[in-house]
Amino acid sequence: MHKPTHWRRLVGSFLPTDRRQRTIGSMALLALLLMIGSSGVMLMLAHAGMTAHEEAVQWWAAISVGGLMVMTAMVFSGWSARLPDPSLTMAQMAWTITSGAVAYVLAGNARGVVPAVLAMILFFGTFGLTLAQVVGIGAYALLTFVVAVAAAARFNAGTYGVVDTAYALMVLLVLGGSIALNLRIQNIRQRLRQQREALAQALAENRELAMRDELTGLLNRRAMVDLMLLEQRRCLRSGRPLLLALLDIDHFKPINDLHGHSTGDRALQAFTATVRASVRDTDVLARWGGEEFVLMLCDTRLDDGHELLERVRAAVAGLQVLHVPEAVHFTVSAGLAQHLPDETIEHTLERADQALYTAKALGRDRVAVAPGHRHTAASAGHARS
Ligand code: GH3
Ligand code: MG
Ligand code: MG
Repeated sequence: MHKPTHWRRLVGSFLPTDRRQRTIGSMALLALLLMIGSSGVMLMLAHAGMTAHEEAVQWWAAISVGGLMVMTAMVFSGWSARLPDPSLTMAQMAWTITSGAVAYVLAGNARGVVPAVLAMILFFGTFGLTLAQVVGIGAYALLTFVVAVAAAARFNAGTYGVVDTAYALMVLLVLGGSIALNLRIQNIRQRLRQQREALAQALAENRELAMRDELTGLLNRRAMVDLMLLEQRRCLRSGRPLLLALLDIDHFKPINDLHGHSTGDRALQAFTATVRASVRDTDVLARWGGEEFVLMLCDTRLDDGHELLERVRAAVAGLQVLHVPEAVHFTVSAGLAQHLPDETIEHTLERADQALYTAKALGRDRVAVAPGHRHTAASAGHARS
C-alpha cells in the first residue's frame, strides 16, 4: 500500500470522503479558483485604468466569485445531492458565462481577454455534460455573447469593429469544437461502457464455470463446500435441520470396463438428471468426485430426508442408459446424516460417509442413516422396497 503524500492528505482533509462527491467537489473548487484568477486579472486591468468603471469591475468581481462560492458550499455541504444535477455544472457554467458576458462589456478596450476565458469554460464543461446540455449551454453562451458585443458597442461608442466580429467568430468556433469534442467523448464513454459490460459478463461466466462440473453441470466440490458452510450458518441461526447425503453409484467401474468410458459418462449424466428430477428445487446436488455425489437437504427432517433418498434410489434403479446392444442399468447407495449443532460440516460428511460404507457393506442399492450422538450402533435403512 502506498503512503498518501502531504498534498493528498491536505486535500483529503477537507474534500468529501465519498469518491463521486470528491470528484464533484474538486471540480467545483477548480471552477472557483479559475473565477478568482479571472477576477484578479480584471481587477488588475481596472486598477491600471484600462476598463471603463473601476468600481463596477470590483462589484462584478465580488458578485462573480461570491456566486460560485455559494455553489461550491452547496456542493461541499452535500446540499446539492438532492438536486437533479448534484455537481451544479450547468448552473456554474451559466453563472460563469453570464459573468464573462458582463466582463466583456466592462473590460472596455481590454475585452480581448474574455473570449479566451469563455473558450476555456466551454471546453471544460464539455467533459461532464451530455450533448443536449452542451448544445444548450453553447446556445446560451452565444446569446449572452451577442448581447455583450451589442452592449459593448453601445457603451464604448465608436470602438466596435472587426475585432469584435473576430471575437464573436472565435466563440462560434469554440462552440463547434466543443460539440465535436463532446460527441467524441460520448463515443468513447459508450465504448468503455460496452467493454465494461462485456468484461463483467465474461467475469460472471468465468465464475460460473469455476463453480461447475463440466460433465454434469452440477456444482463442483469447492463450490459445494462454500454453499454447505453458508447453509450451516443459516441453519444455526434459524434452528432448522440440515441433512447431508453422500451418494455413490454401485459397481460403476464395470460399466466403464464393459461398455466404454463414454457410456460411463452418459450414465453419470443420466444419473444426475434422474436425481435432480426426484428432489425439490431447494435441495442441492453436487458432484463430489468421480461417481460420488453430495446432496444437501435444507429444512428437512431426518425421516423425510430418508424417504426422499429412498425415492431417489428407486428412480436410479429404474433408470436405463441406452447402449447398443442392450440398455445399461445401475443402482446407487447413499449415506444420510443430520448436521448436529456442535459439529463441523466435515464431521457430518464423515458420518454420512460411514453410513454409505454401511449401505455398501449391507449389499448396496440402499440408504443408510448415520446415528446421531445418542445412538451408538449404525442403523441401516431398509433395502429396496
Ligand atoms: P462401488 O460399488 O464399491 O462404489 O464400486 P465402484 O466400481 O463404483 O467403485 P470404484 O471407486 O472402484 O470405481 C469408480 C469408477 O468411477 C472408477 C472410475 O473410472 C469411474 N469414474 C470416475 N469418474 C468418472 C467419469 O467422469 N467418467 C466415467 N466414465 N467414469 C468415471
Ligand atoms: Mg461406486
Ligand atoms: Mg466411489
